[in-house]
This record gives sequence, C-alpha cells and structure tokens, in this order.
Amino acid sequence: MHELNTLPAETREILLSLGVPAARLDGGSVTARTPITGEVLAEVVADTTDQANAAIERAHAAFQIWRNVPAPKRGELIRLLGEELRASKDVLGRLVSVEAGKVTSEGLGEVQEMIDICDFAVGLSRQLYGLTIATERADHRMMETWHPVGVVGVISAFNFPVAVWSWNAALALVCGDAVVWKPSEKTPLTALATDAILQRAIARYRAEGHEIPEGLTAVLIGGADIGELLVDHTRVPVISATGSTRMGRAVGPRVAARFGRSILELGGNNAAIVAPSADLELTLRGVAFAAMGTAGQRCTTLRRLFVHDSVYDALVERLKGAYRSVTVGSPLKEGNLVGPLIDKAAFDGMQKALEAARAAGGSVVGGERVEAAQDAYYTRPALVEMPAQTGPVLEETFAPILYVIRYTDFADALAMQNDVPQGLSSSCFTNDLREAETFLSASGSDCGIANVNIGPSGAEIGGAFGGEKETGGGRESGSDAWKAYMRRATNTINYGRSLPLAQGVKFDI
Ligand code: NAD
Repeated sequence: MHELNTLPAETREILLSLGVPAARLDGGSVTARTPITGEVLAEVVADTTDQANAAIERAHAAFQIWRNVPAPKRGELIRLLGEELRASKDVLGRLVSVEAGKVTSEGLGEVQEMIDICDFAVGLSRQLYGLTIATERADHRMMETWHPVGVVGVISAFNFPVAVWSWNAALALVCGDAVVWKPSEKTPLTALATDAILQRAIARYRAEGHEIPEGLTAVLIGGADIGELLVDHTRVPVISATGSTRMGRAVGPRVAARFGRSILELGGNNAAIVAPSADLELTLRGVAFAAMGTAGQRCTTLRRLFVHDSVYDALVERLKGAYRSVTVGSPLKEGNLVGPLIDKAAFDGMQKALEAARAAGGSVVGGERVEAAQDAYYTRPALVEMPAQTGPVLEETFAPILYVIRYTDFADALAMQNDVPQGLSSSCFTNDLREAETFLSASGSDCGIANVNIGPSGAEIGGAFGGEKETGGGRESGSDAWKAYMRRATNTINYGRSLPLAQGVKFDI
C-alpha cells in the first residue's frame, strides 16, 4: 500500500495510476475532501449542462446498438469488470476509506460487494427468463419477453459511493441498457476511479474482438442540479436514486410527471427487538456492529432498539460498556472500529438530535466529539435510553445514535417498530419460534428487510435490497430486481387458420 506523506498526494497517485485524467482533478468547482482529516483532496471539474445533455444523447445512441448484442455477450463485459475490480480492490477500497471515511475492512468490503454483483450479473446474463402462459385460444401461444429499456440514470449517495453504482450498472448493462451515473458530490473521486476501472474492462472487451458502442456509460460530476437534469431527461426511462427521503420526495414526482420509472432507495429508521429468549451474547455483537459500524452512516444502521423488560438491564449495561470502549479514530488505523462523520453538517445534525432526545426525557451515553482536528468530525457513538418513541426517534439522523426503549409485550414492540414513516430494515433477536415467525409474517415487520438473530445492517447481494413507505419501495441487486431495468412485452402468436377472439367475442365481417 502507498505510504506517502499526505492523503491528498496518495489519493492523486492512486487516481492517476488508475487512468483518471489529471485535468479532471484541479481547478474545478466540486471540492473532494477526506473526512479523516478534513483536507481537500481535489477540486474536481464538474460537467456542464451541455456536457451532461450530450452524454445522455450519446448513451441513448449507444443503447440502440447495445440492446441487440446477445445478453451472454453483454455479460462478458461484466465478467471483465469483475476481474478488473479484483485487480484494483486494494486501491479502490483505500479510496473509499479516504473519501467516505470507512474503516479499512469496510472500504474493501464495499469493493467486494461490487465484485459479487458482477458475478451475479454474469450468471444473470443467461437467465433473463420470460414465462410461457396458458392461452384460452386453440392454436395460440402466449409468452412474455423481456427487452432492454433504455438509458438508466443512477443517482447515488456518499455513504456507499461505489457499490450502489455497481448494483445498478452490472444489472442494467447485462439487461442491455446504457448507464449514466451522477455520484454524490461528496465522493466524486471514487466515482472517477470506478469509471477508470470500467474503461479498462471495456478496452479488454474490445481487445477480445467484441463491439461496444462509444458512450454506453458515463459519469456526470456535479450537484443536485446535474441530478435534476438527469431526472427530467426524457431519454432516461429509468431513474435509480439512492439518498435521503428529502431527495426522493423531489425526484419521485418529477420522474412520474414524465411517466418515467423510478427505483427509489431512501432513508431508513431501522429497528431490532430483543426478546426474553434472545442469545444475549450474539445479540450484543449484532447490535454493536449494526448500530456503531460505519459510524452510523449506513441506510440500514440500527437506530431503534426495543428490549424486553426481563433482559433490559443485563443487555443495556453491557451495551453501555461497549459504547464506552469502542475505538474511535482514523479509519486507516488498524483496530479502530468507528471512523469520522462525513462532515460538520452531519455532526451538527447528530448534536441537534441528542438535544431533542434529552428534552424528551432521554438519557445519553456518548455522543461527544473526539480527535477534534479542525475540519474532521469524530464522535463517540451515542446510546440513548428513551421513555417512549417520540421526537427524534421517529426520524433518521444519519449518525451513530441508538435509541433504546423498554417493552413488556411483544405485540407492543412490533407495533412500535412499524410505527415510523420509514420501512427499510428490521431484526428480531429471539429463540422463540412463535415470535420469530410472527415477526416475519404478514402482520409482522413491515420493512423490505426482516431478519432473525442478525442485525438489520448490511445485506448480501443475492437478495433484493430496498424498503417500503418513505424508504421509497425500490428493489435493487439480487433476486428478480433485474426486471426493473427491462421492459416486458406480452406476445400472443396464432399458428392456426382461424381467428378466435378472447372472451368469446364475435366480430364476423
Ligand atoms: P442526499 O439525498 O443528500 O444525496 C444523494 C444524491 O442525490 C446525491 O448524488 C445528490 O447530489 C442527489 N440529489 C440531491 N437532491 C437531488 C434532486 N433534487 N434531484 C436529483 N438529485 C438530487 O443523500 P446523502 O447524504 O448523500 O446520503 C445519505 C442518505 O442516503 C441517507 O438518508 C441514507 O439512508 C440514504 N441511503 C439509502 C440507501 C438505500 O438503499 N435505501 C443506501 C444508501 C444511502
């Protein structure tokens, strides 16, 4: 690994070695900082409106060629992308740590997730199945066919600066679509690095003798204005947007107004229920990672914990111990488990939520700032015992705050867990079969993700990922999430000599 004196110098060296043009990194309007020290890493040159429009038009033209390439051949591009990501895993993981502040194993884990979805998409490229459907008419056949849909616009958040792109792009590209990506303005460098890695895969694909149209993929650097341009563009039939519910509230209606399709992956307010029969050792570890890991900056971070009265004191005392002893500091230093918040606004938001919790009768352990480098914001994770689910508990504060509430009746705990506007992820720690199955049943957790005896945070790429209510309803990644990137055609073929109409309708001329 590079051992240069400063993070800006090391970052620049990695970017140039991957093939990011130097001209993109200086004198621009998008300031990339590392939350580790607050230093400026680069002044990235943003795309203009004209450049963004031109990139979308190019992607549309490329789509018209790419859609006719057989899907398994499209899969070969993603196989090569997976190989290039494997080769660059260390450096891209390092960049994720530097730009988003993730501890080393999580930075590498994010790149592993990209590799995993590439493997999944390669297999998928031979499995874009449609159904054959029984028809009521003699000598007819009915079936459905899945076709590529067009340009997929991907808008991503800072906290998974590259994995979210890969969940979308790996599927969309094997499905025959073009992809235009607007990454978070807080993490432009990992996006440029990812694009450079993709360009390597594209060069190898061409060298193997395959054709790939120019402009099939693009990265647009910029803020919400460039995101809005993508959202409003009629050449972009699908918008996959990951970020806050505030962003989704703006994006969803705009896409709908032009009859586009959106995949919304928005904020969560994830909960866990700890029942009397729970394995407390396992629960402690599950809760600690889910609530404190990634400094509370995962959409699936555990934010609300409902603990049964009979195990409350035992568990919460041990949790407080874990909160007091967890190592906070530079994510690049081995042994540290909690890195920095992304910026001052995140720190201020955390302090505001803690004040509101105190005002609502909460008692707080942790939450104070540590390692106060001027522009870096490290805090101790906060555990807040609350008398009831009120005030800030109902909101997503994107920071490591865990609200803990005591319960006596499982049905009440379940009702509280569901009684928030968000519906992303949830867990139940129990060894009682009735509770576990009730939690997973139709009248159980109302979230897109419901787990038993593991925390709500994190997910494997094989399952469909996403949530309900204000989380937006979108699904990405595994299972049949690929269908959102294609259009479905129902085909009926008459191989007989008569023309029977459906439902017995007569029209004899
Ligand atoms: P954010 O909403 O501030 O920004 C996300 C992206 O949306 C950025 O690229 C931003 O430029 C863009 N954007 C903002 N306003 C826009 C608009 N009006 N039109 C088009 N684009 C716009 O979110 P953030 O602070 O980067 O990320 C944290 C949030 O993301 C949290 O709420 C977290 O829960 C959520 N998140 C959700 C998931 C999920 O899968 N459900 C995954 C990761 C993060």
